[in-house]
Amino acid sequence: MSDNCIFCKIASRQIPVDRVYDDEEFIGFHDMNPQAPVHVLLIPKRHYATLMDIADERLLGRAMRAIQQTAISLGIADEGFRTVLNTRDNGGQTVYHVHWHVLGGRFMQWPPG
Ligand code: 5GP
Ligand code: ZN
Repeated sequence: MSDNCIFCKIASRQIPVDRVYDDEEFIGFHDMNPQAPVHVLLIPKRHYATLMDIADERLLGRAMRAIQQTAISLGIADEGFRTVLNTRDNGGQTVYHVHWHVLGGRFMQWPPG
């Protein structure tokens, strides 16, 4: 738990969210400013500021498995979805608790537009 981290507060239930995914290590919940019909954030319950702070390969692999499960349960797996991980300033990261965006429900233009 990192003080004043909004996603730590979500993970610890100080701030309630509708959990679309929940296991021992990760939770998924809807982004408050969705960029697609389905826009979920998948976060580790433990605080890591950015991708660069994670050395645990198993945790990284579990994140990908959690994303698979989230996509299936939200019904976006068959038609497809985009997974985005923004890192630090040039990556456009605004919340410094690592999170994967899972976006789907429409064709996800690339580059985004
Ligand atoms: P970043 O730019 O860091 O990759 O993405 C941060 C994302 O977190 C943004 O899409 C933003 O809408 C979302 N976000 C920030 N604060 C909250 C919050 O308190 N609740 C939820 N559900 N989403 C948040
Ligand atoms: Zn945090």
